[in-house]
Amino acid sequence: MNVTTVTDLDLKAGDEVLLRLDLNVPMENGKVTDDTRIRATLPTIDYLREKRCKIIAMSHLGRPKRKDPALSLEPAAARLAEIVGSEVLFGHEPGGEEMELVVRELQPGGILVLENLRFDPGETAPDANFAAGLARLARTYVNDAFGTMHRKDASIALVPGLVERAAVGLLVKREIEALDRLLEAPEKPFVAVLGGAKVSDKIGVIENLSRRCDAILIGGAMAYTFLKAKGKAVGDSLVEDDKLLLAERLLERCAERGTRVLLPVDHVVATSPEDTTDVKVVPTIEPGWKGLDIGPATVSAFTQVILDARSVFWNGPMGMFEKDAFSGGTRGVGEALAATEGYTVVGGGDSAAAIAKFHLDQRIDYISTGGGASLTYMEGAELVGLKAIRARGN
Ligand code: ADP
Ligand code: MG
Repeated sequence: MNVTTVTDLDLKAGDEVLLRLDLNVPMENGKVTDDTRIRATLPTIDYLREKRCKIIAMSHLGRPKRKDPALSLEPAAARLAEIVGSEVLFGHEPGGEEMELVVRELQPGGILVLENLRFDPGETAPDANFAAGLARLARTYVNDAFGTMHRKDASIALVPGLVERAAVGLLVKREIEALDRLLEAPEKPFVAVLGGAKVSDKIGVIENLSRRCDAILIGGAMAYTFLKAKGKAVGDSLVEDDKLLLAERLLERCAERGTRVLLPVDHVVATSPEDTTDVKVVPTIEPGWKGLDIGPATVSAFTQVILDARSVFWNGPMGMFEKDAFSGGTRGVGEALAATEGYTVVGGGDSAAAIAKFHLDQRIDYISTGGGASLTYMEGAELVGLKAIRARGN
């Protein structure tokens, strides 16, 4: 993987470790409602505690411009304390001098969680002084926040360059290994299933995967831009008219590279997503109708290709799966991934939510915890946070 991992470091009892986590978890009324992301990082936290290191955990939460009590990380720290079964201290002023004193008092194996880094504009700026304030807290930096590793925030991009040694955590290691298995030497046939709302979000992924995949299956709202580019009727479906030329060019490139592209051959349509009284399945979308899911013939065509695949990457729901009337395509494709013998990876926040909704999680080989980060990685781009750690070499 050619990046230093936390297990490569010579850690001693009492060593201070600045640990970038993704504690950006959903909350309601001061309580964490889904702690998946906290649990995903437990292997790294447990490892550091076994080594008797002092853990200084830091993260962002939401997109505050300044201090906002509703976006405090205190509930996440409380949940972490429950999960690890021991006291977790809380630091209200991440970059302040007082924090250095708190860290000095921290017991080996103890955990301190810093307040939401984005309460300081220096985090997203990113500001070198803010980064230096964080770096003063420890000699060692570990990044286990895969979901934010594509961002240039101070705690991701700058802090690794200001400490003595830097490494990735065990969650990041797992994520990268799962995605590398597809990018480096995928077992063939390698199939990508791409959907979701917008072509513009996925251009880089389609471009990169068209070089590596044997087939690309396109569903979701973005399929209509491709269908329209091919001169097909799409009625009133969501289309990005400014991306038609690009869609045409992407299809040409796939043809040149010998990558099969499958587009929907039937559609679940309605006059509006709010009105589910006259939902029907059609091969061609008439004016006044919107395509809101792929139809059963498409599901069965996609399923066949997925069952024959040795590797599958899926990003983006096949329809507006949040509504039952338009969830059949996403469920069908999810079931095909669950059933195939090939190696299956799902990336993307909404896609992962769909897999969970249909209880297919246990039958997928890897579900990425990072939406934007896993897409950036699948585009073939180097993640900012990985680059910063690699630059240290250690
Ligand atoms: P991910 O988070 O997995 O990367 P996206 O964010 O790209 O996925 O897209 C997910 C959204 O796309 C969902 O909210 C879903 O309702 C929407 N969507 C998918 N297909 C359609 C469609 N045909 N019409 C409208 N919205 C759609
Ligand atoms: Mg999304």
